Amino acid sequence: MDISPYVGGDASVEGLARVMKLSANEGATGPSPKAIAAYTEAGANLHRYPDGGAAELRAGLAEMYGLDVNRLICGNGSDEIISHLIHAYAGQGDEVVYSEHGFLMYPLGAMASGATPVKAREDNFTATVDGFLAAVTERTKIVFVANPNNPTGTYLPQAELVRLRAGLPDDVLLVIDSAYAEFVSRNDYAPGIEMVSAHDNVVMTRTFSKIYGLAALRLGWAYCPAEVAGVFHRVRGPFNVNTAAQAAGLAALRDVQHTDEARAHNDRWLPWLQDECTRLGLNYIPSVGNFLTIQFEADGPRSADAAQEFLRTKGILPRGIAGYGMPDYLRFTIGLEDENRSVVAALEEFLSAANGG
Ligand SMILES: *Cc1c(COP(=O)(O)O)cnc(C)c1O
Repeated sequence: MDISPYVGGDASVEGLARVMKLSANEGATGPSPKAIAAYTEAGANLHRYPDGGAAELRAGLAEMYGLDVNRLICGNGSDEIISHLIHAYAGQGDEVVYSEHGFLMYPLGAMASGATPVKAREDNFTATVDGFLAAVTERTKIVFVANPNNPTGTYLPQAELVRLRAGLPDDVLLVIDSAYAEFVSRNDYAPGIEMVSAHDNVVMTRTFSKIYGLAALRLGWAYCPAEVAGVFHRVRGPFNVNTAAQAAGLAALRDVQHTDEARAHNDRWLPWLQDECTRLGLNYIPSVGNFLTIQFEADGPRSADAAQEFLRTKGILPRGIAGYGMPDYLRFTIGLEDENRSVVAALEEFLSAANGG
């Protein structure tokens, strides 16, 4: 009963027909038409159980990224993979380390397994190797790094992840959650594939919920050591990934042009939103994901709560992140052009109203 159930981002406002849901980092440009077609086609076979091994999807992933298919696992969202890993490797008396403002599924999953979540200190809303290593004890079983992290949008360069792994005991699993990897274009960034290939205590998780725009289908995957894959197959449900998700995921993966367009959209609008915040005098945490976390005042008419309430009346739904210990911030998913422009216009109106003008 100590667990605060995970609450998804707001999706509707009573009395408003159209809302701009910018609260869950779903890909703004939506799914590939080819994924929608594959999903629709799957309808004819709804009476059949899924392929429990997700063979075609795993083969597609192996081909796309040059991976060993036997080390690829698929899950009902990457959330399922995260929680099974915790169930399998951590329990009563064990510790699961994550960064101070790290993704909430890690502490929730740890508690659900009876393990103790342990926060590693961050520096400027960014996880640090030294912070992680200082949090590790002989009871630590798993270290989770969301890279880039949600809700901060910050990331650790590959060299830092390598340094982190080198500093961990060999029996601690390092899970690199690269849910936003496809959005990141930094020379010093890597999602973690090479590290998984080189070591037997590193897992990289990925999702179809973000750039691929398939959040509704619940589809994630991970690249892991063979032994970890074997453990996952023992604890997962036999048909954990449904047929429509497998088919749509494969089609989405192969529609490289659609993914490139989604990335290009983000590359255009994320810097635009950051520049507009600067123009409005709003601080933000520089992000490499498809979202931006913006700072408001601690209280008074310019607080994050006041902003969220004002935006709500306009049908604009960002994510309040008080649950992450960041009550002064709101997280905005990068939306379509008109959504982004509406956010800025509404923020401008909010700030001027708060000024009494
Ligand atoms: C959105 C998100 C996920 C993905 O979840 P799914 O279960 O695959 O939808 C995982 N990790 C982080 C950090 C996220 O923000």
